Formats: sequence, structure tokens, C-alpha cells
Amino acid sequence: MAITTLEELKGIINLTEDEKAWDADGASTLPLLISNDMIPLLSCDAIRRQFVPTAAENRDTIGFLDPQEEAKNQGTERLVHRYRNRAAFFTTDCCFAYCRHCFRRRFTGHLSGPATEKEINEAADYIASHGEIKEVLLTGGDLFTLSDSHIDMLLSIFKGKCPNVIFRLCTRAVAVNPGRFTPSLMGIIKKHMKGAPFFLMTQFNHPVELTEKAIKAVSMFVDAGIPAFNQSVLLKGVNDAEDVLIELSDRLLAARIKPYYLFQDDPVKGTSHFRVPIERGLEIEKNIRAELSGLGMPQYTADLPEGGGKVILTYSYYKGTVTKDGKERYLFETPDGELRYYPE
Ligand code: SF4
Repeated sequence: MAITTLEELKGIINLTEDEKAWDADGASTLPLLISNDMIPLLSCDAIRRQFVPTAAENRDTIGFLDPQEEAKNQGTERLVHRYRNRAAFFTTDCCFAYCRHCFRRRFTGHLSGPATEKEINEAADYIASHGEIKEVLLTGGDLFTLSDSHIDMLLSIFKGKCPNVIFRLCTRAVAVNPGRFTPSLMGIIKKHMKGAPFFLMTQFNHPVELTEKAIKAVSMFVDAGIPAFNQSVLLKGVNDAEDVLIELSDRLLAARIKPYYLFQDDPVKGTSHFRVPIERGLEIEKNIRAELSGLGMPQYTADLPEGGGKVILTYSYYKGTVTKDGKERYLFETPDGELRYYPE
């Protein structure tokens, strides 16, 4: 059984005072939900911090409710069209476990439930009539909390009306509830693989999350011809250490998942205690880049507030131009900290 109350949690782990005080005044905007598969992992601090709520969430006065201004950019009831060539459809507000760092906590877990057939049709019509949209994120919440028949209906409508649009299947379920990926569910997904491809977008934040069951769940997609990309969030006390991120990348690649993004935690109210200063994030980025191949290196990225969009955060190895031996040269710093001249 999944855990939904502090009382249930007390029977499993000794709660700290800050954990016990969560939601003492009923101010929490995100419910407590920890899936069965995550319970044995709570002994790892990095997992506990991601799923056990604390009073720090409610003390937070910094940040926005909706930093990406998704609510201001709605194409239809459940569809956000913020970037010209892509959109995000909120399939449901439910997840198998609620991450305490959730950036969409204004919507997640608020019981608005699965998107209706009417809402799916409206979104599909909008996408079909906006030829500039090339990719759609099926997100939420978590798409895979929907029943098999609901997923079948949703994919039938979207693929039927938008056969040339790439759909990203965004899910944390492969980590937190890998048993959801049954042969019958995979059969439904495979049935809808005609036309533009699917991409699986996972969220693994710590190597411990890559359990045997999780790897098997991802393999079902990769074996079916659906490439897998991982989007981690840089989180204080979870993965803000070079060795953790390097191990995460190594294990992702071994599981045939490309490390794609390492997101700076969005400035969402209630999550400040997770935020790593950008200076430290840039230092981590530089240090792990020196150890990882291009294949294993995620892009450290910030989603700018007020709907500003994504920017890549990276150390600049280019140091400008200098005159050497009477000639103009480009100057670079190597990943090992040495200097090299590059002919113009
Ligand atoms: S799985 Fe995604 S939407 Fe759900 S709580 Fe975690 S971050 Fe938020």
C-alpha cells in the first residue's frame, strides 16, 4: 500500500521534528504520497528528501506559484502552448508519488483528475490546426496513472488527428512504480507507434532510483524502439555532488537512457530548501564535464521565470582573442585548466 499520511509514515521511519510539522497548519499545496516501490528506498537520505515532506515547504516565502507562466499560455483547457514549435498536454494531475520539489505543484495532486475525451479532442484539434507545433509533451501529473483504456483512447485521438507530431511520454513512473509497465500497456503503446515517433522522458535524480525493476521498465520502451532521455533536477541534499551525478550518468547510459537535462530547480514557492546556488551548479557542471563523455553529459539548464524560456548554463572555455607571435589567436581553457591557442 502506498503511504498517504504522516501517521502511516511514522510506522516506517522515525520522523524528524521538521517532518512531523509538515502541514501542521494545513498550508501544504501538495499531498503526501509515497509509492510502494519507494518505501524501501527511504533509508537513503536522497530518496527521503525527495518524498518525505517537511515544514520547510510551508515556511518558504520565495518564488512563484507558476514561474513558467503556463497558466497564461493555454491553448485549450489542458494544453500549454508556450514555445512556438511545441506544446504540453496535462493528461492528469495525479502521480504515483509526489516529489516534494515538484515545479507544477499549483496543478499536481489537486484532484482535477484525468483529461476527458472532450478535452483531449479539443487539444488534438488545436495542435492539428497549429502546423508549427512539432512536438507535444504528454505530461501532468503522470500519464501512466491513467487506466490502459484511457491511455488507448488518448493516444488514438492524438495520433489520429496529429500523425506527424512527435509525442514525448513524460513519466516518473518507471522510477516510482515500474510494475505499471505491463505487456498489455506496452501493447497499447506499440499499437500507436505509426507516424512520428514517441520519445520516453524519464526523471531519475539519484543512482539509487535505477533499481532492477526500473531498468526493466525502461527496457520495455527501448526494446520497442522508443528512445529514452532523462531529465534530472539539481537538488540540494539529493544530487548536488559530482560523484553522485557521475554515477547517475554512468548508470543511465548502461540502462540505455541518454542523460538529457540537469535542470536548475525552478523558483517555485515551497521548494527553496532544494535550490542549489547557480555558482555551485556551474562548478558542478564544469567538474562533471571533465569526467563524462559527450554522451553521458546532461545540459545544465535553467527555465527562466515569467515564462522566459530555457537557457543553457555552462562554463565558458572560450577566453577571447589574443595576439601571439604577431598573429591574432583564439584563446581557450582546456577542461584540465591549461591554456591553448587556436588559429583564426
Ligand atoms: S512526478 Fe512530476 S508532476 Fe509528479 S510530483 Fe513528481 S515532479 Fe511533480
